[in-house]
Amino acid sequence: MSDEKKNTADHIVSKDVELLKKALDASISGIIITDNNQPDNPIIYCNAAFEQITGYSRAEIIGHNCRFLQKDDRNQPARAQLRQDIAAGNNSVIEIRNYRKDGTLFWNELNVSPIKNSSGAVDYFIGVQNDVTRRKNAEEELKSNQSKLEQRVAERTQSLRENEEYLASIVQTVRESLIVLSPDYKVIFVNDHFKRTFKVSREETEGRSLFDLGNGQWDIAELRRLLEQILPTNNPVIDFEVSHDFPHIGKKLMLLNAHRIELEGQYKDRILLAIEDITERRAIEQRKDDFLSIASHELKTPLTTVKGHVQIINRLTAQSGDEKLKNAVSKTSLYVERLNNLISELLDVSRIQSGSIELHKQPFDFDQMVKEAADSIRQATNSHEITISGATDSQFNGDESHISQVITNLLSNAVKYSPEAQQVKLHLSTVGDYLKVAVTDQGVGISRDEHQKVFERFYRVKNIQQRFPGMGIGLYVCAEIIKNHGGTLWVESEPGKGATFSFTLPLDQAEGAADVR
Ligand code: ADP
Repeated sequence: MSDEKKNTADHIVSKDVELLKKALDASISGIIITDNNQPDNPIIYCNAAFEQITGYSRAEIIGHNCRFLQKDDRNQPARAQLRQDIAAGNNSVIEIRNYRKDGTLFWNELNVSPIKNSSGAVDYFIGVQNDVTRRKNAEEELKSNQSKLEQRVAERTQSLRENEEYLASIVQTVRESLIVLSPDYKVIFVNDHFKRTFKVSREETEGRSLFDLGNGQWDIAELRRLLEQILPTNNPVIDFEVSHDFPHIGKKLMLLNAHRIELEGQYKDRILLAIEDITERRAIEQRKDDFLSIASHELKTPLTTVKGHVQIINRLTAQSGDEKLKNAVSKTSLYVERLNNLISELLDVSRIQSGSIELHKQPFDFDQMVKEAADSIRQATNSHEITISGATDSQFNGDESHISQVITNLLSNAVKYSPEAQQVKLHLSTVGDYLKVAVTDQGVGISRDEHQKVFERFYRVKNIQQRFPGMGIGLYVCAEIIKNHGGTLWVESEPGKGATFSFTLPLDQAEGAADVR
């Protein structure tokens, strides 16, 4: 080749190399070339981006092995991969932790390609690097979030399982039969108590419709109707009584309660049915009522005789001048009367219980009856003044002695439960087509949560029962008498602020109402 030609060729080559260098410097990837034929494979070229990524200058890069980028962080698994690929003369792509000149870490996505000569030996390596710290951090964050999430899921699953076991142990332990039903009334679950009570196996119950169980004992139209309303309306079934001759266990009285249940995320629209066997409890209550009835009858008969004799003695001693004797006889007759009243009340309770209380209805002067009842209480108390205001001005058709008993009871309670007061007021009025009686005292009062309970039989307010004698049946009998006349009896009161017991009676009964209950 002539010199001129050579010069021109050289010029073209150097021009091309310049252009390539410029191209490499324009790249945003860091690029290096190492010379594999020199000891320790030094870097012989780096582009501008490499300087920028690493923070080192060309002068600090050229001639060095690229391991300086790892500083002391040498035990990275990616290096083993790199070594293995290079030894095999292959391309290698790794992600490795590198450090800038100022010591800050960056993740380097490194692509190393060997440049082989014609005999196959590697003369050079070209390394292309990209700073992927941001992606790597995002990945790391994602990973850590994921593992946190997994941990939370594991914890939640664990706590759910524990909750489930906890609930299951409660459900199995309760001494009540429990059934869980699907929305189409199929039995999903029965607890041990149910199986024991009804002497059935799980197979005989679970998966079958509630209404097909046993000999169809739960297939009761009213129960069906109530259960059907639970899911759409969320209205529970409360204290539904079922009396049935059950297979294997005989005649039983059961109390049913059912509620819609929902466990978030697990299921909704299920029905929990609780079945309580109240056969025994009812039998005991019945025995108690029977005893009460027999005892009061047995007591009443001799007492009536005693009462008669005391009246005779009373008449005989009336002429005698013996004041002591007269006093003793009149006290005896007072206490006999009191005993007689107590026994009558007990008899009333058992009559109400057995449904055999009889009302003898006849029109009577209501206000006059009230006045007489108040007079009888006035005679028995000199601590309180009983005042009557208002009037009903009506002939009421009802059982006079029973209603008089109500007035007497309310007045004597008003006196009894207001030992520190002197006033008891009775107010008569008509309200629409009802007559109304209100008895107000300034006594101990009754807290709101007891307002209903005081009308239950044998109920007495706890904190005062020691202070005042009584059996807790007076108000129960009063409420029944008023109810049987078509009226209502209620109380308004606050503790320490006295009480007002009021009742209403319908006036339209005044004419021609039947003479029975
Ligand atoms: P007893 O008076 O024999 O206990 P009652 O049936 O008449 O039975 O009354 C039930 C309970 O109601 C009483 O024990 C008492 O606690 C409460 N009670 C009744 N009347 C009053 C009243 N006027 N003031 C406060 N408490 C009353």
